[in-house]
Amino acid sequence: MGETRSREQPVATVVAKIGSSSVTGAHGVDVDAIARFCAQVAGLRDQGHRVVTVTSGAIAAGLPALGMTAADGADVVTLQAASAVGQSRLMRVYDDVLGGHGLVGGQVLLTPLDFMVRHQYLHARRTLARLLDLGVVPVVNENDAVADDEIRFGDNDRIAALVAHLVAADVLVLLTDTPGLLTADPRLDAGASLIEEILEVDAELEAVAGGTGSATGSGGMASKLAAARIAAWSGVRAVIASATRPNVLADAVAGVTGVGTVVRPRAKRLGARKLWIAFAVGAAGTVVVDEGARRALLERNVSLLAAGVGEVRGTFRADDAVELAGPDGRVFAKGLVRVGSAALAAMAGKRTSELAEGVPHEVVHRDDLVVLPSTNGPQGRGYLAATSSEKRSRRT
Ligand code: GLU
Repeated sequence: MGETRSREQPVATVVAKIGSSSVTGAHGVDVDAIARFCAQVAGLRDQGHRVVTVTSGAIAAGLPALGMTAADGADVVTLQAASAVGQSRLMRVYDDVLGGHGLVGGQVLLTPLDFMVRHQYLHARRTLARLLDLGVVPVVNENDAVADDEIRFGDNDRIAALVAHLVAADVLVLLTDTPGLLTADPRLDAGASLIEEILEVDAELEAVAGGTGSATGSGGMASKLAAARIAAWSGVRAVIASATRPNVLADAVAGVTGVGTVVRPRAKRLGARKLWIAFAVGAAGTVVVDEGARRALLERNVSLLAAGVGEVRGTFRADDAVELAGPDGRVFAKGLVRVGSAALAAMAGKRTSELAEGVPHEVVHRDDLVVLPSTNGPQGRGYLAATSSEKRSRRT
């Protein structure tokens, strides 16, 4: 399928994400923009790389077909309906343009549940792997038409990051309408300059990234950074770069300096389950632990025992996700709890020998526990939960 493998460059699996404002205009799908994007995808394929594309634009492409614009402020259900109209229009263009390069596109529509329910996750992973093996270019979007609004992602940046984990990508390229992450908002500060490399996404950077930047897309820099962090924790190098920069995909994959903002991957790749606990699932409550337990969890990779529990905040059930905070109230980890909040409050501070028969003494097992970097960022809330409430305050 039009693939001539270059022997010199190592083959990479690349996830390339492009946003609504880059692939649609006032009249719907921007064919030329998709053609430019797909030409770059074809260029990567010519070098032998495996490429998954993640594209937004279903809603923005569907609204004009229904005689509406984003400014009309349609309700969520209408936007979901618009996505059904727009997704097929979007896909028609991708199919045509990829076909012009001798490539076959394959639409994959995902919802958060596909990452949260293990057997769905495995199915999605299997299908994407087979598509890549068959030489197809998967074209991924959120299944907006049917996604549950309470938990839908709402922006494709995080989907792209989770897909990057799913396909064990080497590089995630998040294309946007700025050269990358800048030191300040260029609309307010003419001296804003590009941050070329990020070693670890922290609270300070999140403050720099601010909120949503464009009227059409729903992502903005904050969600790109959140996605880059998921990628970093997945062992995937993330590059945030301009959609209009010539050769942006090839340069991002080759690691050309100045291509955009590169977020370095962590040395240790988090498994799917822990990634899900850390980033996808919302926390139902907080368990405050004593200093001894906090140190043991941070330093010795142990399970949390009832004896280390100080206070229980919120109402949760067994298997819900909870934040773990130290005595100072700072959240340092997240995990799945094995007992509900009422039972846990009754067990708090008790030694294992003091617990009734059959009560799990490991209240958060170490396999279900993820230590988070020290930031004030949204990871404790869970990205999906954060996104659904953010989504309500903005319009695509
Ligand atoms: N999935 C939405 C769409 O295709 C857009 C999400 C986003 O803006 O990232 O219309």
